[in-house]
Amino acid sequence: MSIKIDDELCTGCGACVANCPYGGIELVDNVACIQEGCTLCGACVEVCPVEAITLEREEFKVEKMDLSQYRGVWVIAEHYKNKVHPVAFQLLGKGRELADKLGVNLTLVILGADFEDQLDALSQYGEDEIIYVKSKVLKNYYSDLYVNILSELILEYKPEIVLIGATPTGRDFAPRVAKRLNAGLTADCTGLDIEEDSRNLRQTRPTFGGNIMATIRTPNSRPQMTTVRPGIFKIPPKVKKDVKIRTLEKKLEEKDSVAKIVKIITKEKQKVNLEDAKIIVSGGRGVGSKEGFKIIEELADVLNAEVGGSRVTVELGWVDPDRQVGQTGKTVSPTLYIACGISGAIQHLVGMQNSDIIVAINRDPNAAIFKVAHYGIVGDLHKVIPILIKAIKEVKAQEK
Ligand SMILES: Cc1cc2nc3c(=O)[nH]c(=O)nc-3n(C[C@H](O)[C@H](O)[C@H](O)COP(=O)(O)OP(=O)(O)OC[C@H]3O[C@@H](n4cnc5c(N)ncnc54)[C@H](O)[C@@H]3O)c2cc1C
Repeated sequence: MSIKIDDELCTGCGACVANCPYGGIELVDNVACIQEGCTLCGACVEVCPVEAITLEREEFKVEKMDLSQYRGVWVIAEHYKNKVHPVAFQLLGKGRELADKLGVNLTLVILGADFEDQLDALSQYGEDEIIYVKSKVLKNYYSDLYVNILSELILEYKPEIVLIGATPTGRDFAPRVAKRLNAGLTADCTGLDIEEDSRNLRQTRPTFGGNIMATIRTPNSRPQMTTVRPGIFKIPPKVKKDVKIRTLEKKLEEKDSVAKIVKIITKEKQKVNLEDAKIIVSGGRGVGSKEGFKIIEELADVLNAEVGGSRVTVELGWVDPDRQVGQTGKTVSPTLYIACGISGAIQHLVGMQNSDIIVAINRDPNAAIFKVAHYGIVGDLHKVIPILIKAIKEVKAQEK
């Protein structure tokens, strides 16, 4: 991009100088003249009354790709201590749906060592094929090796869609692979679908602080790459089918990576595992106080559930940060989610709307949470919850 001033048109009025936020333009001999501070922001162009200043942009050319060469949906599995992260199985469930709509194969890709014994068990999530890139070095995660190997594989096999977990590891290699391939990458998607009249992937994710859900398409390049946070999609029921296993042996040594793993420090085991909880009872500002949360804990107790909270309750110090549900907290999909005194802001909903059954207790009948709730109770939670606890205890007593 460059900026040009037509000396003959310039009248030396100084409007550009007055409006430049960076001191990037001055009058020299009564003619506007670009200075070092110019950032090419274009403010001067807009205010020039005689159109003497022009910004020249190079045309951005989209190279035409032959999209028809790309077929298939891939899920990249990550693992730690030889255990595949569950987000891979969640992505296989969604991947199957997308592959069926496109009429193509679904492939699970693992870069690892010593997975031979697990391949049968890993074949039960609906995929048609597993590509197992095997090397003793791939026992651990090396960022650059993942980027090199995945980029090469994608260039060779040409999948049209690549799904990756938005875990710290996935967030590390996914954008680097996308850059290497000049492909699009949409991070932190909460919804994926196929556009009917084209083969484009519709990638939906919250944007502008979660106030808008944007649907992004990548119509000109392949593959279409996506990261999805754990817990957004459900693990599909297991199926028995013939899965083609393709093992690719890689002769790699640790020195092939620019990184050297000196020590792996395992994070202290999480006290709360909201993502795996079957039942969650969450409280919001409506609970009223930290002490008020006792009623939420009591309900969670009788249901054998975990306690969650909205961001407000975390900010108020009523709930620990690792219990926050939502866009900047955990994404959960339990069989039962009970939202107590939570209004249903979009940032909260994106973290829990995939729960099987949502029960909302709120004294405002117009609260947004009721739009996603399967069952709604309009009332004061401090009156409703004790009744619920009593009823649950009675049912449990009868069952004994
Ligand atoms: C970038 C960004 C990221 C964010 N990330 C998150 C996130 O991850 N998670 C999250 O939760 N929020 C997040 N937020 C904040 C979000 O926008 C809301 O402010 C927040 O979710 C509101 O919390 P709340 O529902 O507890 O409180 P409020 O919106 O104040 O709602 C309280 C509700 O309680 C009801 N109520 C009050 N008293 C009672 C009672 N006695 N009995 C029954 N009902 C009662 C009220 O009717 C009301 O509906 C984020 C915001 C931004 C900008």
